[in-house]
Amino acid sequence: MFGYDSFRGSQREIVDQVVGGGDALVLMPTGGGKSLCYQIPALVRPGVGVVISPLIALMQDQVDALQALGVRAGFLNSSQDYETRREVEKAFLADELDLLYLAPEALGGGTSATWRLLERGNIALFAIDEAHCVAQWGHDFRPDYLALSMLHERWPDVPRIALTATATSRTHDEIAQRLNLRQARHFVASFDRPNIQYRIVPKNSPTKQLLDLLRTEHNGDAGIVYCLSRASVEKTAETLSAAGIPALPYHAGLDQRVRATNQSRFLREDGLVMVATIAFGMGIDKPDVRFVAHLDLPKSIEGYYQETGRAGRDGLPSTAWMAYGMNDVVQQRRMIDGSEGDLAHRRMLSTHLDAMLALCETVDCRRTRLLNYFGEQAEPCGNCDTCLNPPQTWDGTVPAQKLLSTVYRLQSERNQKFGAGQSIDILLGRKTEKVAKFRHDQLSVFGIGTELSESQWRGVVRQLLANNLLAVEGEYSTLTLTEGSAGVLRREREVMMRREPEKAARSSGGSSGGSSKKPVVELPPEAAPVFERLRAWRAGVAKEQGLPAYVIFHDKTLRQIATQRPATLSALGTVDGVGQAKLERYGEQVLEALASE
Ligand code: ADP
Ligand code: ZN
Repeated sequence: MFGYDSFRGSQREIVDQVVGGGDALVLMPTGGGKSLCYQIPALVRPGVGVVISPLIALMQDQVDALQALGVRAGFLNSSQDYETRREVEKAFLADELDLLYLAPEALGGGTSATWRLLERGNIALFAIDEAHCVAQWGHDFRPDYLALSMLHERWPDVPRIALTATATSRTHDEIAQRLNLRQARHFVASFDRPNIQYRIVPKNSPTKQLLDLLRTEHNGDAGIVYCLSRASVEKTAETLSAAGIPALPYHAGLDQRVRATNQSRFLREDGLVMVATIAFGMGIDKPDVRFVAHLDLPKSIEGYYQETGRAGRDGLPSTAWMAYGMNDVVQQRRMIDGSEGDLAHRRMLSTHLDAMLALCETVDCRRTRLLNYFGEQAEPCGNCDTCLNPPQTWDGTVPAQKLLSTVYRLQSERNQKFGAGQSIDILLGRKTEKVAKFRHDQLSVFGIGTELSESQWRGVVRQLLANNLLAVEGEYSTLTLTEGSAGVLRREREVMMRREPEKAARSSGGSSGGSSKKPVVELPPEAAPVFERLRAWRAGVAKEQGLPAYVIFHDKTLRQIATQRPATLSALGTVDGVGQAKLERYGEQVLEALASE
């Protein structure tokens, strides 16, 4: 049915567990192959597999993709008209579905029409997708998920499988507790995504840096660019479009229809860049997203990992790139101070941010750090910026003291409120208007920092902020001292800093030639035109049938076909991703496309 020769990772054990009627909690990274873990048991067990998913906007695509494989799937949600709904309900009650997708709110806490429908049907299993939505510790909490604990009370004999790509043990525990899955078997996969290259660079002129990345390494690729604010989403999308890179905006402030259109274009068309706030992406299972770029700092490692995880689901090399600077730290610390909620909540936000900052400032392998955060041990990976181009550390104690004394003079001696810019101007001995007005050229620290450039000073401020040796306060982002600052000023502690390598790391992909085009992986030169021909054929079919191209065949499958050039249907059937239904539907056409030179 699915066209694969073997299970991956612990898929087989999970499938066995659920087929046998047991419960399972599955933690597996994006692209790990979670769907198969409930789809196969739903096919095997009598009755209909009910999948609870928060992703209403994607249900149609999920169901289309399953139907293309020959799986009898349907969904019920608020976007449907009455007739369609009735059809699906009828099929469900007649046991003529393998899988039924529902949104959690449809269950209405046990009182809705949908709940009553379920009571009249024959249920094979419950799959709870994106299960981290039940956890308050996480970043996607949805109150509707809390009611899912009732499924077990009402249907004690129906196996449940909860799945998530969120990995921290806190979230894991909370899911097990809230969904009453302590007795379930827990399957925890490695969270490594070896095909993703992690890179975090200092932010200088972010749009230019982004354009450079897209032009030199990701020309023509599909990707996602994350920005913090709606305004920067719009601006960045415009800049990219003006530069000839097809880009679409996505944020919660856009009209619902515009959002839906942009999302569906991103999924269906090749090579589009989605510029978005984090409102975009959950459940997007487009396999060929080649890069995820962050122009602003994510609020937590969980968020960063989820967002970057949307790259490279197909296992092909992909880039997770982020530009990060002093203002990111200033802004996020301020947002936390100004946030609603009690002290405990703010403390949680701070803990999340500190972990994220530590990842940014590390001189160790990014992947090792990331996996350590999720409780896994790992050797340096050789496929992240710090491995490919190790940064140096330098003793920044003296500059740190200079900066902190400047802050001390302004804050404690003069009780003045200034941001980072003024301190840097003072250290560099710049007689700006503001320096003159407040007579800051009279300070003993004026001009004592000319050994560093402005951008180096910003790096110093950033790293002090990241290490809580400096803080920001109030609406003017005033720099202030922390408990830790005193130790530095008293020369009791050293401050080691990260020195950015001269040249940013570039993709490690094999090809060495001077060509600026990214290396096309695993595709021998003679296969490239064949691949293009197959892609053109696929684009035609996708358009005709109104399906995303990857629902017909993944890039990975087309690459393998282009390389192997199978001459018969049975040979074609051995290619990964060519199942029985697809072979029957598209096999002849593919062989024709291969033969037409
Ligand atoms: P997840 O839901 O964990 O993010 P998916 O279920 O979407 O992952 O699977 C990711 C990709 O891996 C999909 O393209 C899927 O077709 C493919 N895949 C899943 N299981 C296998 C397998 N056993 N062999 C080959 N490919 C697989
Ligand atoms: Zn590494």
